[in-house]
Amino acid sequence: MITITNELRQQVATQARYRCGYCLTLEIVSGIPLVLEHIIPPIKGGRNVEENLWLACYLCSEAKAILTEVVDPKSGLVVPLFNPRTQLWISHFAWSEDGRRVIRQSDIGRATVQALDLNNEWRVLLRSIWTRF
Ligand SMILES: [Zn+2]
Repeated sequence: MITITNELRQQVATQARYRCGYCLTLEIVSGIPLVLEHIIPPIKGGRNVEENLWLACYLCSEAKAILTEVVDPKSGLVVPLFNPRTQLWISHFAWSEDGRRVIRQSDIGRATVQALDLNNEWRVLLRSIWTRF
């Protein structure tokens, strides 16, 4: 198993622009350092390599856990979770007009919003504070 070095963390953090790949929370406002998230979790064969890592906030990382795909609540079909390394956020999500809620733009977006609970009351409350500045 390849160890995640500080250099690798820094490299991925720079690529992620120091924000969560799922909810776009900036590390500087998260209150705690963002974590390195395995796109494919180690239990499913994911490795500690740049191509399999991205930054995530604690809430998104905990909710994602070992998920790589989920059932789309609308279609009932299994769809992959959003992949922040290979997919564009704006292709699958948008912000509500007040900037407090993540709005899905695709099946992947809808399934990811639900699976990662991207609009739970605490997140919406936090965004209401962030969007004041
Ligand atoms: Zn997040």
